[in-house]
Amino acid sequence: MRTLEDLDVEGKRVFVRVDFNVPLSQKGQSPMRHITDDTRIRAALPTIERLRERGARLLLAAHLGRPKNREPELSLKPVAARLGELLDAEVALAPSLDDVPDGELVMLENVRYEPGETKNDPDLAKRYAALAEVYVDDAFGAAHRAHASTVGVAELLPSAAGLLLQREVETLKGILEAPKAPLVAIVGGAKVTDKIGVIEAFLDRAQTILIGGAMCFPFFRAQGHGVGSSLCEEEGIPHAEAALAAAEAKGCRLLLPEDLVLGREFAADTETQQLDGVDVPDGWMGLDIGPRSAEFYAQEIAGAGTVFWNGPMGAFELAPFAAGTRAVAEAVAQAAGTTVVGGGDSAAALAAFGLDDKVDHLSTGGGASLELIEGKTLPGVEVLGG
Ligand code: ADP
Ligand code: MG
Repeated sequence: MRTLEDLDVEGKRVFVRVDFNVPLSQKGQSPMRHITDDTRIRAALPTIERLRERGARLLLAAHLGRPKNREPELSLKPVAARLGELLDAEVALAPSLDDVPDGELVMLENVRYEPGETKNDPDLAKRYAALAEVYVDDAFGAAHRAHASTVGVAELLPSAAGLLLQREVETLKGILEAPKAPLVAIVGGAKVTDKIGVIEAFLDRAQTILIGGAMCFPFFRAQGHGVGSSLCEEEGIPHAEAALAAAEAKGCRLLLPEDLVLGREFAADTETQQLDGVDVPDGWMGLDIGPRSAEFYAQEIAGAGTVFWNGPMGAFELAPFAAGTRAVAEAVAQAAGTTVVGGGDSAAALAAFGLDDKVDHLSTGGGASLELIEGKTLPGVEVLGG
């Protein structure tokens, strides 16, 4: 994959695709929505600063949400303002592609205001390319989509990966290609079908896979246990069954919880009980792994050479069901091995526990990081020679 070192940028206009798809406050409270978490903006600063040091003039491009009709609440205005504060510099926002100011630091409006963006329309890619001499992609979170600003324009200009995208790809590929053993993968979250590709990738590479979250229940059903009213994805059952058989055949330890925390319903104030075992009685749902399982998972993580974690162990947003996810997060934070965390909710959990700076790599890409781990080719990476 081509990197910043491969590009001549001095005095040139560089089109920099970044991932500034930040969470915003709810509509209606004030006329302009504000940014509730600027992690993604801060993650792009090293590339922006490096290019500026090398004398480049930047044209930043990003998407925000899924606009249908140039709705003003999905304008990048608050993002340009926040970036300006972080850089202590003026960031000019171009009102349209036909009206791009000539400054050192310019940002295009939400690229998804352009109808051709998500269709990778060649005419739109040409219009982007006409605005710059060089292309840099630092939007790892969008690299699994072939859009005009991630792939189309990259084909028309000298192009390379920014520092964030480069680090994401190198770290995640490193887990697949040369992990320090034992490799322990912790896979949780809501659905087996979302994560089966990741589980399959680890069945071939990991010594141990620890399963948590609602994803346990299709596995328990496959083993003949009762799941009560737990969230249990029916379609996931055959996948779970196949994964159990593959683990047996390949000699990979695919481990499930041995105890659970139950609730009557998905709510913080529901009646709860601990279950020593995994046969969930009728009228109850499994909402977290139990303390014995959490302790046992933490020990496995402590002994790992490499840890990959995606997906919470339970409904961690609800205080009575957060302990399992917290125990795993703390174990990952304290682990001596290399630790990598990917996934939107897993990252949010880590941040909620104040542990996000205690892991070696916290991926900024949800879907993109999972697709890379699954071994898929990401179009936004391939176009950069990766
Ligand atoms: P990630 O974004 O990290 O990939 P997912 O989106 O797959 O994770 O899963 C996160 C969601 O799964 C959370 O909203 C959480 O409440 C839910 N969840 C986890 N375990 C359970 C459970 N036992 N019952 C119901 N929901 C659960
Ligand atoms: Mg999620």
